[in-house]
Amino acid sequence: MPLSPEQQAEIDAQRQSPSQTLRVVSPGMEKHLYTAHDVLDHGFVRVIDYMGDDAAICQAARVSYGKGTKSVTNDEGLIRYLMRHWHSTPFEMCEIKLHVKLPVFVARQWIRHRTANVNEYSARYSILDREFYIPAREHVAAQSTVNNQGRGELLGDAEAARVLEILKADAGRAYDNYEAMISQDGQQGLARELARMNLPANIYTQWYWKVDLHNLFHFLRLRADPHAQYEIRVYAEAIAAVVSDWVPFAYRAFEDYRMGGATLSATALDCVRRMVKGETVTQENSGMSKGEWREFEGVLRG
Ligand SMILES: Cc1cc2nc3c(=O)[nH]c(=O)nc-3n(C[C@H](O)[C@H](O)[C@H](O)COP(=O)(O)OP(=O)(O)OC[C@H]3O[C@@H](n4cnc5c(N)ncnc54)[C@H](O)[C@@H]3O)c2cc1C
Repeated sequence: MPLSPEQQAEIDAQRQSPSQTLRVVSPGMEKHLYTAHDVLDHGFVRVIDYMGDDAAICQAARVSYGKGTKSVTNDEGLIRYLMRHWHSTPFEMCEIKLHVKLPVFVARQWIRHRTANVNEYSARYSILDREFYIPAREHVAAQSTVNNQGRGELLGDAEAARVLEILKADAGRAYDNYEAMISQDGQQGLARELARMNLPANIYTQWYWKVDLHNLFHFLRLRADPHAQYEIRVYAEAIAAVVSDWVPFAYRAFEDYRMGGATLSATALDCVRRMVKGETVTQENSGMSKGEWREFEGVLRG
């Protein structure tokens, strides 16, 4: 279970003590504040704090004395213009602070996004919980035969059962030994910073993660993408749902230009122009490699 009843009670209490502010408030975001959104079997994402809204992006772009809003249509148009032309700094004026609980192997991918501020739960100071990510049956798949970096067909029932059993047994045994090593019953007890060494990468960790909207969009573009590993993608999708409520105009522009859009090379663009003129363009006369052509066709097919 991602949250204990005590943790839930703390969150409920926090949600029941609003304070007045002169700061910008995003109504869509207020409903997410503190609320934990479950991800994977024991993980979650919850918003701890945020700064700014769609109008704050326009306010920064216009370097305005007031709220920055001219009209709703104007604001959405400006945000789309900024997104389209990679004028990114106004998006950096919005920030979000999340509390995330995630398996260590997902954290290793996540931490590569350097343009954020992170504070992680200390396993030198505290004892980690006995919580391990065990994939659901429908995610237990074989190595992909077409993509070296990914999974393919689902494993058969017997093999999946065997694999899941190994994962559970190894995690349980490693945790038993972790406890046995740090125990001070009749022994000195190994330091936590050393005992954690034998814990597997599917154990859960937690961190606070603060990032501005521009860099968050970059993270979502890479990690909510179908090429990203499922286990980080589900976190990115949970965050994306929050962002679409927080800054709906900016999120729509991001979906349109970044998530749903595609970047074409000069060669690919030339092929499109030739096709529009009625020319038959093939991989052989395109000037593209087989791989580039395959991806280009994918973009055109949608
Ligand atoms: C599908 C997928 C597969 C991947 N596979 C691998 C892999 O096999 N091995 C591997 O090691 N990584 C892998 N990565 C991680 C990837 O290479 C990036 O490290 C990660 O996505 C973070 O991206 P970023 O550096 O753009 O983000 P951020 O660190 O948030 O940086 C954002 C931008 O800021 C700029 N920036 C930040 N820091 C610096 C800096 N120090 N110097 C210069 N510019 C900087 C860059 O323009 C960068 O794009 C993979 C990522 C994805 C999405």
